[in-house]
Amino acid sequence: MDVCREAVLLYGKEAQIGMLLEEMGELISALNRRLMRGRVDKATVEEELADVEVCLRQMRHVFPDDVIDMWVAIKLHRLEKKILKDRESGLKKRCFMGTV
Ligand SMILES: [Mg+2]
Repeated sequence: MDVCREAVLLYGKEAQIGMLLEEMGELISALNRRLMRGRVDKATVEEELADVEVCLRQMRHVFPDDVIDMWVAIKLHRLEKKILKDRESGLKKRCFMGTV
């Protein structure tokens, strides 16, 4: 059974988009508390990441899967070009207090 497809069919597209919004909010909050104040443990952030990923997988049954794949390929290509450019220029990584 494709659990993500079944969830969209049973609960509806709008409800699952609402769930994605809710889960993204929880992830933003957990990351903010982890990175800025160190008040959330790593496991909580990982769980919230999983929640968002499950919701994103459901979005592939809400929005056209092939269009999402096309945009992902474009974005990954842009990121690759940026990495290569930044490596050439000797860019240093940014640090958020070493909490990740
Ligand atoms: Mg959550």
